[in-house]
Order: sequence, then structure tokens, then C-alpha cells
Amino acid sequence: MADNGQDRTDGAPHVVVVGGGIAGLAAAFYLKDEPVRVTVLEGSSRLGGKLAVSEVAGVAVDEGAEALYARRPKTTGLLKAAGLGDRITLAGTKAAAVWTRNEIRSLPGRQIMGVPGDLDELARTGILSADGVARAREDSELPPSDRNGDVSVAAYVAGRLGQEVVDRLVDPFVNDVYAGRAEELSFEATLTPLAVASRRYPSLAAAAASVTPPPDPAEEKMPPGIATLTGGLGTLPDHLAEVVLAASPGAAVRTGATVTQLARSERGWRLTVESAAGPEHIDADAVVIAVPAGPAGRLLAGVPGATQAATGLAEIPYADTAIITLAYPRAAFPGELTGRRLSGYRVPVVDGRTVSAVTFTTVKWPHLAGEVEIVRCQAGRIGDEKLLQRDDADLAAVAASELAEATGVAGGPVATRVTRWDGSLPQYTVGHPDRVARIRASVAEQPGLAVCGAAYDGVGVGTSIATARKAADQVLAFLRKDAAAPAGR
Ligand SMILES: Cc1cc2nc3c(=O)[nH]c(=O)nc-3n(C[C@H](O)[C@H](O)[C@H](O)COP(=O)(O)OP(=O)(O)OC[C@H]3O[C@@H](n4cnc5c(N)ncnc54)[C@H](O)[C@@H]3O)c2cc1C
Repeated sequence: MADNGQDRTDGAPHVVVVGGGIAGLAAAFYLKDEPVRVTVLEGSSRLGGKLAVSEVAGVAVDEGAEALYARRPKTTGLLKAAGLGDRITLAGTKAAAVWTRNEIRSLPGRQIMGVPGDLDELARTGILSADGVARAREDSELPPSDRNGDVSVAAYVAGRLGQEVVDRLVDPFVNDVYAGRAEELSFEATLTPLAVASRRYPSLAAAAASVTPPPDPAEEKMPPGIATLTGGLGTLPDHLAEVVLAASPGAAVRTGATVTQLARSERGWRLTVESAAGPEHIDADAVVIAVPAGPAGRLLAGVPGATQAATGLAEIPYADTAIITLAYPRAAFPGELTGRRLSGYRVPVVDGRTVSAVTFTTVKWPHLAGEVEIVRCQAGRIGDEKLLQRDDADLAAVAASELAEATGVAGGPVATRVTRWDGSLPQYTVGHPDRVARIRASVAEQPGLAVCGAAYDGVGVGTSIATARKAADQVLAFLRKDAAAPAGR
């Protein structure tokens, strides 16, 4: 067994980042200019985790995450600091819809994760039946809900606005973002701004209105605050790795290096790593764990005093999902549809389809517009694993047939790609905020250890980056304190 931890020559503390997804690479990026030596260990053969890009019909199209919030300074700050400012490109539209009750119906403008803020506007969309709208209107008459602690999204929203709002609006959103179920997901963790507002406004529609101001005509002319990178968001991980390696001579970024064990050592931490060369040990002064909850929990299970973190992490389930990318000749798309400039539509599970969300990629991202129209379809959600138990050709055929039924697109796709993302989306089930607080408290008791990634504060790329910043700051604060302590640690 080699001990790579001993080969440092500059005497700088060694920080090992476990996981080369966006969180791990962002953590390494934030550490690159600090007086530490960084090593990123990625178990699979490529960097990026849920970020990947490849060509479909000659167009570079993301296979996993494709979009970020451009108005979040931490996210765009990282991209700009990494020299990617000129590759940030904004979405051409954020207008979205629901395919239900036999039509693609535009979403109301005033909604948050499908929870409507203006019930008259909702009624005009035709998404709900007349009974569904009448039930939603009862919200303003109902007594304040007695909410003690966290509840499920479905329980709270259905209690106030009725089950149809859950089924046709909110569940499609949470299914899109988490591949999850409204009846299982945490109201506090997945609709946080609304959960906060709902403590001030007994009516949930009023709470939604308070966080979704009426559209400002001046704002409407501005591009939506959703961005990607030209060439694909999937190019970000390799780029970050290159920047880290260029900026920090002692840095290393390894793929095919799975961390199988984490243990306290005299120096700080000892990691057991499995690679093609066989098992080895790497010593570190501090460790950032940037892997999904399952492997993070397994690593922490072996660390005395971290049982609470390991147990909490083991309680976070993950959903399987698949992205089915279809390419059509431009002329195949009905003019009426392209004229609406929709970025896509979601499909309520109650309507019994396979595809749960569709993005008109080449409409949403004008820089990709050309001779082919690219359509991105998402399928699969927790508890419905059978949906994805078909081969790729079958999944692509079902997606194309449902798309044709919804949109009237003529003929079949000229190219297809199916990307399976098994165990990819963490489920923030009821109690998630408390669970994360317990995990973080338990990790904080371990000297020089931090966690980051999508399992904690939000599944998006931007939030994963924000947790990486926090983890980098935590290990730096520990190392500074450690260096200042007279008798070492
Ligand atoms: C299909 C899909 C579409 C999405 N679309 C969007 C979107 O458009 N916008 C958005 O903001 N978010 C989106 N997301 C969510 C977002 O992409 C992810 O939540 C985020 O990228 C997770 O980053 P991460 O670094 O926390 O984890 P991961 O990407 O899972 O990275 C963790 C890495 O750790 C590695 N690893 C695991 N165990 C070990 C080990 N023991 N040793 C070493 N390495 C290990 C894994 O191989 C992996 O590379 C999407 C997710 C999916 C699945």
C-alpha cells in the first residue's frame, strides 16, 4: 500500500475531497488559492457526477443538469471566477405549461412550485376542473392550519387548496425537480419560502402571492434569470478541475479512485482508496465529503462519534430517473407550438403517462437553435421503478409517441439518446431539515471534517456549489485554528 499523504514537500496541510461531482470540484476550486494541498478523489471513470454532455444529431446537449439560476451571485460568481463569464448564456424563455385535460395549458404566472398565488388567473388556465377551482377558493375561508413541525407537501397543500392543486400543479413540479412524490416530500425543505410565508398568511394562496409578486411588464421584457453554459453545463466539471490543477501545483484530481473507508489517524484522517492499482492509504489533515448520502453515510459509519450523521444520511432515499433526448427536423414541429415559445411542459402523474417533464431544449436555449429541434424528456420517480425497466429503444419510442400526442409533432425522431441516472435525486422527505441539522451537528464534532452536495440544503447545482463554499470555509477555519493551537490538535 502506498501512502501518498507523505509525499508533500511544501508542508501545507493536505485536504482530501471525496467525490468529483460539482460539489467536490467547487470545494476544490474554493481551496485552490489557500495554503493547502488539495486532492480530489472521484470513484467513477469521469468527473462531474450528474453533469455530463454529449452530442445528439451533432448538437452538444446536456445529459444531466442543464440549467442554473443566473441571479444567484454565488453560482455565477464561481463560473466567472473560473473564467467562464463569456460562456454564460441565458434562457430565451421560462414560459412553462402542464399537459393535462387533453391540452398543453400555460402555467399561471403567479405560482411557486405550482402553488397558485392568484386563483382567478389559475381558473383561466383550465388546468383544474371547475370543482377543483371551487375547492381551491375555499382556502381563504378555512381557519388557519394547525402545523406543528414539518408536514408533507401534499398534506399541507391539499388541506388548504384541495387535492386537484396537488395532483395537477404541485406534484408535477416536485416530480420534475426531485423525481419525488408530494405525499412524501417535506413542505419545509422543498417549498421553503412558501413554508416561511405560510406562517404569516393563513391562506396558502395569499402566502404564495406574497412570494410571487404580480408580473412587472418591464421585467417581462428582460430575459429570464435561468442560465447555462455554451457547450453545455456538463463541460463545467472538467473545466473546474483544469483551473484547480493550474492554480495549485500540489493539487491532484484523480478518477477511478473510490474511497472505501475513512478513519481517524494521528495526523487527522486516513482514507482507504480502491483504484485499478489496488488499495492504498491516503493521509489528510482535513476531509470534505462530497458524495451522495448513501456513500457518505457508509464512510461515516466507521468513524467513532459520527453515528448520528451516518444514521441520518442512511435515511435519505434516492430516486432513479432517465433523460430521453429526442432530435427532430425543425420542420416537424407545429408552428403553433413553436410560436408559443414554451420552454416545456410537465405531466401530472394522475394522467398516467411515462414522461413526467418535457423541455423544448432548442427553444429554451436559443444558442442551440438550428436545423434540428432537440426535446428533453424526463421519466422515472421514486416508487415507480418499473417505469424505467424497459430498454432504451422502448423508452425512446414511448417518449416520442407521448410527445406526438401532446404536440402533434410530425414523424419520428432522427436521433435519440437515453441517459439513465440511477439513485440520482435525493428525497427531502418529511423531517429533512431536522435530519440535516442532526447530520451537520454530528459532522461538526469531527475535527477537520465537512460535508457538502445535493443531499443537504437543495438539490440544484447552485445550492450544491453553495454547500461546497461552506464546506471549504469550515475546513479552512479548522486548519487555521489547528495551526494556531500551541500543542497541535
Ligand atoms: C437528470 C438530472 C437533471 C438535473 N437537472 C438539473 C438542472 O437542470 N439544474 C440544477 O440545478 N440541478 C439539476 N439536477 C440536480 C443536480 O445536477 C445535482 O443535484 C448535483 O449535480 C449534485 O452534485 P453533487 O456534487 O452533490 O453530487 P454528484 O453529482 O452525485 O457527485 C458525487 C460524485 O461522487 C462520486 N462518488 C460517490 N461515492 C464515492 C466514493 N466512495 N469515492 C469517491 N467518489 C465517489 C460519484 O461518482 C459522483 O461523481 C439534475 C439532476 C439529475 C439527475
